[in-house]
Amino acid sequence: MIRTILLGSVALAALVACSTFTPSQVSVDQYVDDARRIAGEDLKFLMPVCNPQPAVRAVPSQAMDESLAKLINQPPPEPGQAFDNLYYVGSAWVSAWVLKTSEGLILIDALNNAKEAADLIEGGMRRLGLDPAQIRYVLVTHGHGDHYGGAQMIAERYGARIVASEIDWQMMETGLEFDSKLWDRPPKRDIAVRDGETLTLGDSTVRFMITPGHTLGTISPVFDVRDGGQMHKAMIWGGTSFNFGRDMGRLDGYIAQTERMRELASKWGIDGPLSNHPGFDGTVAKLKARANAAPGSNPFVSGQSVVDRAMRVLNTCARAQKTRFLLTAQAGAENIYAAAVGVQDQRGSHHDDDDHVHAGILALGNINHAPPIAFPFSVDTPAPVGLTVHRAP
Ligand SMILES: [Zn+2]
Repeated sequence: MIRTILLGSVALAALVACSTFTPSQVSVDQYVDDARRIAGEDLKFLMPVCNPQPAVRAVPSQAMDESLAKLINQPPPEPGQAFDNLYYVGSAWVSAWVLKTSEGLILIDALNNAKEAADLIEGGMRRLGLDPAQIRYVLVTHGHGDHYGGAQMIAERYGARIVASEIDWQMMETGLEFDSKLWDRPPKRDIAVRDGETLTLGDSTVRFMITPGHTLGTISPVFDVRDGGQMHKAMIWGGTSFNFGRDMGRLDGYIAQTERMRELASKWGIDGPLSNHPGFDGTVAKLKARANAAPGSNPFVSGQSVVDRAMRVLNTCARAQKTRFLLTAQAGAENIYAAAVGVQDQRGSHHDDDDHVHAGILALGNINHAPPIAFPFSVDTPAPVGLTVHRAP
């Protein structure tokens, strides 16, 4: 034990010494102010991403199930149409999108469980005049239960293939990051895709961009959408919040991916930014607005500059959170983010690169209080600064 602490101290000292960036609360505040300025009014729904996040990932618990149940049981929005070829059949909390092609349908995410998928996905599709039997593929954007829960049922019922990234298939097979009895089991491994690969069905092609951070294999799909005679390019940001605990590799990945996708969005002309949680892109309000919009105007077409700003907001919030973790590594065990409870048990799911960070956390000593609940989250109720518990609405 002493040896561990000593090694940890050395690693922590090395971490601090080799850093050219000196973290401070001022730099955290600057990042958050910058993000708020970049977000302005139209992207302020992204700002909860800038709230302080806990150092440890939530473990299954009754409290988590209760929070999840509240999120799942919110009255669902009306299903609706975002583009001529893109429909929303998700809940008030999690999105499920249907891309219509000339050769069948691609479902993007499958909600929490089979019952919810039956009620909202199948039920919503029928209300929109879409036949669930035409679903050919179910894309799971990342391996968390709120996105895969209904996937196996849909796949079995309609003979659809399930697509996920190799790395998130591995996570779903060998060790879930989060679990809850409200989620159905992960789907059986099917099609694994790598960064930049495409799936073409009829007249549509989806490009799978692997944008790690939220999970290590998060997919942000990019595809063409139509509105009247106009073609647009949509991207669904496949994983948004930092609910993975104190994992600097994840934050670095997130920072790198938001920069990469910012460049590619400019190059490819992505002008329709979407999310897989409706709270992160104003889906429900936009669906209503689109239903009443004049021909040629579509609230889901935000424009390339808005995509650019959205990537910058997420990038800046990731930098703020990274700085918070660096600060608390310096500050000592009294800080709430330095809670080491549970971290040792979760090392298997982390990058090797992060060993120094974990060693640093261990060096801070064990704190005997319950880990804060990192998941599920609500995007509507910002946590007060300094608190790490996300509350269900
Ligand atoms: Zn997730």
